[in-house]
Formats: sequence, C-alpha cells, structure tokens
Amino acid sequence: MTGSQKLYLPEVLKGLFVTMGHVLRNLANPRRMPVIFYPEQKKDLPPTTRGRHRLMKREDDSPRCTACMLCATACPAECIHIKAAESPDPDIEKFPEKFEIDMLRCVFCGFCVDACPLDAIRMDVPEVMLADYTRESLVYRKEFLMDHDNKDIVPDYNPPRPVIWTHGPHAKP
Ligand code: SF4
Ligand code: SF4
Repeated sequence: MTGSQKLYLPEVLKGLFVTMGHVLRNLANPRRMPVIFYPEQKKDLPPTTRGRHRLMKREDDSPRCTACMLCATACPAECIHIKAAESPDPDIEKFPEKFEIDMLRCVFCGFCVDACPLDAIRMDVPEVMLADYTRESLVYRKEFLMDHDNKDIVPDYNPPRPVIWTHGPHAKP
C-alpha cells in the first residue's frame, strides 16, 4: 500500500468525492439516472425475457396441465405445489385441482417449463412483479396463472419439446 492508502483518510475522502460527484450529476440531470421509479415506472422487457409463469389452456378453457408432477419434481426450489384430481374428460386421466407457485422461492431457472411434456406451463409474461406487501399475494394460484387469453406472447414460440403420443387416445398412427 502507498503511504496515502495506509493513512486511510485520503482514500475515504476520495471515495466521498466520487459519491458526491454521482449525486450532483444525477441531481443536475435526473433523466439520465440509471434507475427507474419502480413500481410506478416499469421497464420494457424484451419478449424473450424469462418472465412470469402462466398455465396454458385447452380450447374449452380447461388447463392443459395433466398434473403429471414433472415440473414440481424438476423444480430445484420446491416451490410448485400441485393437487391432482380425476379429470371429468374421459380422455384425460388427471387435472390440477390446485396448482400453486410460491414466487418467493422461485429462482426463475425455467426447469419447470423444460420439464413439461405438454407445453402447459410457460414463463413468457413479460413482467416480474415481486414487490408486494404480503407473502400470500406472492403465491400464484391456478386461477391467476390461467387468467390470460392463451395467445402466444413470444412470436413464433416453440414449445420446449414436441409432444408425441405413442399410446392412448391421442396416439399418432
Ligand atoms: S422457474 Fe425454476 S424455481 Fe421457478 S418454479 Fe420453475 S423450476 Fe421452480
Ligand atoms: S409438467 Fe406440465 S403437465 Fe406436468 S404437472 Fe407440470 S405443468 Fe402440468
């Protein structure tokens, strides 16, 4: 260390000058501040952002999910909770009576999306609202996850893997 660094005080003053320089520059031109006033202001995120989850729907608005639990098993944060029930559709074995994602535990890894064989869960809603007042409001429930018009948000979106049925009523010849 140099003599000035050993004395500490000159270095502390240098640091304060740098900080004050930033403060004055930002006060003189607030528009150039590298921050936004979230949540009043929101940043436009690119369409490929791994955003908020949603559960995709069938044509009759029922969940595409068959409660196979693959996403919950793949989730490293153990934040997906599914309660399966018998589906009223005779061609489908199960459906998620309850489907919840605890966003306070989610690490946005996307493993759930990759694990799903039915393209039933996507992370393409370009908003990540993780500021709220109660823990309860950050547990996303099935009704909230399905509250969308089922359209593709990302142009030319391709599901992670093609769904090829080898048996059952949807089997391809
Ligand atoms: S993004 Fe990752 S952590 Fe979040 S629910 Fe999916 S698998 Fe779990
Ligand atoms: S992997 Fe897909 S089909 Fe299976 S429980 Fe998760 S969202 Fe539903």
